[in-house]
Amino acid sequence: MPNPPAPGHNNPPDTAAQDALAGIVTTGEFTRFRQRDDVFTRAFWDDSVRSRHSDGFFASYRADAAPRKGEGFQQKDFALRNAAWLVSDIISNRSAHEGVREGFQAPIRADTPVSPHRAEVDDPARMATEIKRIARFFGADLCGITGFDNRWIYASQVDVRDFSEAPVDLPEGMTSVIVLGHQMDAPLVQTYPSALAGAATGREYSHEAAIVIQLAAFIRNMGYNAVPSMNDTGLVIPYAIKAGLGEYARNQLVITPEFGPRLRFSKIFTDLPLTHDQPKPLGVKAVCDICTRCADACPVKALPFGRPSDEAPNRSAIKGVVKWTSDAEKCFGYWAKLASDCAICLRVCPFNRDYSKRSNRLWLKLALSPWRKLALWWDDKSKRAARLKPRDWWAGRARGD
Ligand code: SF4
Ligand code: SF4
Repeated sequence: MPNPPAPGHNNPPDTAAQDALAGIVTTGEFTRFRQRDDVFTRAFWDDSVRSRHSDGFFASYRADAAPRKGEGFQQKDFALRNAAWLVSDIISNRSAHEGVREGFQAPIRADTPVSPHRAEVDDPARMATEIKRIARFFGADLCGITGFDNRWIYASQVDVRDFSEAPVDLPEGMTSVIVLGHQMDAPLVQTYPSALAGAATGREYSHEAAIVIQLAAFIRNMGYNAVPSMNDTGLVIPYAIKAGLGEYARNQLVITPEFGPRLRFSKIFTDLPLTHDQPKPLGVKAVCDICTRCADACPVKALPFGRPSDEAPNRSAIKGVVKWTSDAEKCFGYWAKLASDCAICLRVCPFNRDYSKRSNRLWLKLALSPWRKLALWWDDKSKRAARLKPRDWWAGRARGD
């Protein structure tokens, strides 16, 4: 299928200036990403990714989870993880018989019509402030707003009946993207890798499904279009960076000043008049330039060492973007063998700490200053990156990092 323009408006006129602030660099090879090439989608149609392990990985999220003796992979660990995913699963499965897997391979369908009575918005700045307040009311931990940017919309989505390409299901005229951040549970993250830790991921998918549906319903009740979205429709990371929520790091995550890398993102596409936030460079790249703790800790060496480049290890990487890019095939292969998600690279990252504590806020200041080497030395001296034993989590003995 060719690479058609995404529906909606052209990129905002300040794209180049925003890219410079956000650290986004594209080359002449840039090609919009096809969701069919996403490694999780490939695991259903591409024999070079699909294996008995990947089939077992997906099966383990249903009742036929295969508990084993290892700590963190017993029945109660899978039971908690799969319960945490349940609300998200209900949404993503409800239209799968029509080829639409909402929240993953297609946007979430509207549960509320757009009101025929359009509320007047004469102050988009005040509306943006109110949207952020409502996002928090529904449970989001962070909220930023940026302009619709064609480049990060998938070139095509997927019909999950046969995993063929399908046109992106996004209405015309979207002008803004509201990006929401959802904090993952810190003690559970300390237990990665384990099926137990997957409950931290599942809980946020379930939270974000409810939050984007409710916030989109508010906007639709105001007489404007709003499309709730999780992993579907487009790449959320560039939108999160452009919305000023954080900075991209070597471990493929967005580092935020509030939670470090320990959060998930969702988004809403809308035509509600809103002012946009600006990217806020923090100084994370300068730390990643001298730190390889995530790449060192990755059990399958899926993360890059060295400087950002436009090298795409395989078809699951977007082409023509200069950045740190993982080998998604190696990463997913490890997840499949584990029968759960892995986030060792999140757990060990020195930015993964509890910033409600004064000492950690002080550490952050140091890390984002020319004293970054001292901050990394300080982090190495602490036990912060160590794995918490799942039995300690079950016994309520989490560390307070
Ligand atoms: S999630 Fe695990 S396997 Fe994947 S890059 Fe991170 S550490 Fe490596
Ligand atoms: S572990 Fe180090 S290199 Fe990796 S993302 Fe965190 S700060 Fe950057």
